[in-house]
Amino acid sequence: MEELLELYGTMGISQGVYAYGEKALEKLKDRFAEIDKIAEHNQAKVIAAMQKNRVSATCFAATTGYGYDDIGRDNLEKVYADVFHTEAALVRPQITCGTHALTVALSANLLPGDELLSPVGLPYDTLQEVIGIRQSPCSLAEYGVTYNQVDLLQDGSFDYDGIRKAINSKTKMVTIQRSKGYATRPSFSVKQIGELIAFVKSVKPDIICMVDNCYGEFVETIEPSDVGADMVVGSLIKNPGGGLAPIGGYICGTKACVDRCAYRLSAPGLGQEVGANLGLMPALYQGFFLAPTVVAGAEKGAIFAANLYEPLGFKCVPNATESRHDIIQAVELGCEEGMIAFCRGIQAAAPVDSFATPLPWDMPGYNDKVIMAAGAFVQGSSIELSADGPIRPPYAVYFQGGLTWCHAKLGILMSLQKMVDAGLVTL
Ligand SMILES: *Cc1c(COP(=O)(O)O)cnc(C)c1O
Repeated sequence: MEELLELYGTMGISQGVYAYGEKALEKLKDRFAEIDKIAEHNQAKVIAAMQKNRVSATCFAATTGYGYDDIGRDNLEKVYADVFHTEAALVRPQITCGTHALTVALSANLLPGDELLSPVGLPYDTLQEVIGIRQSPCSLAEYGVTYNQVDLLQDGSFDYDGIRKAINSKTKMVTIQRSKGYATRPSFSVKQIGELIAFVKSVKPDIICMVDNCYGEFVETIEPSDVGADMVVGSLIKNPGGGLAPIGGYICGTKACVDRCAYRLSAPGLGQEVGANLGLMPALYQGFFLAPTVVAGAEKGAIFAANLYEPLGFKCVPNATESRHDIIQAVELGCEEGMIAFCRGIQAAAPVDSFATPLPWDMPGYNDKVIMAAGAFVQGSSIELSADGPIRPPYAVYFQGGLTWCHAKLGILMSLQKMVDAGLVTL
């Protein structure tokens, strides 16, 4: 204990900040135990899928070139399909990021004249250019796919009347974003998503329901594909990559939808048959294996952050006590200086690039300046401890990740330390 305090002291964490953190932690024992239960369930789910598909060292072999008959790649897709309880899965290092995976899912299943509906308000920043909400070359809008949107009601619930009115003969697909992204609305539980999907299908049964599952994987024991989603889509440098996947994205869903995604990703006629694994299979398998416990650690970090900052007067979404549906914690710091201090703390606690100083900058795909703190083994990985946010009111940082709970804890304590050092809070 004394030695840990001394060690933390040399890293810049004062006894006051440490003690404040310990006090917050005392109240979190039961919640942390619940998270461990969910992790245990999901761990078993992943292991069962790996056993069923007879994962062996053969699956870890590298392939190059076309990648025909790539056993490791094909088997990993079966493992994903079994965990998500879907007919098919496309899990590829050739999918460069979450936005790319979502773009493939959308553009593969929407044709000119079709309409896309978001019944949960404005989609994630980078998707706005994909859809054409903000003009961009090669957007869906440019290809003649129209877009319609129904905002959430004041209390964050679904506007069922508005959704019913918005669905028309052209509505081909609905996109549901599970996580809040860069908004301060609540994230949805899988159960809520299931209710929304059931409603949409009751109005028009053949609508394809796609869920942007980014940051939501393994937070609950069920996934949106368990409650009627036709496609669930996400990034491997977030939850399901477990911190080990160096690149990639996934699309799990019906065979009809996933087949089209494969044709869009590679080429019509080729589909899932091509795409060498380039030696990445060990990382993709092992990352998926680790993901349930990594997500649990990240979630503990998010809850710890809310319980540290909320009593100090900063609005937290989700708040200190409410249930969680993703690993993101928004903390409204109220000013640019607060965002900078918070991010400096996260950066200073990192194993990689701890000496760097995060600054707000213009990023492709984002409308406002963005500040990002990340000292990650995989660049840009946000399942690793990271904090970011657009510089705009209410000056919220979106904090997420942490490959281990201990690192998440250190990072959050360090963020608070930087806030204290900058005179922005007094404990
Ligand atoms: C991160 C994220 C994306 C985009 O993923 P990238 O890998 O950054 O392209 C899309 N939707 C949501 C909700 C996200 O959190």
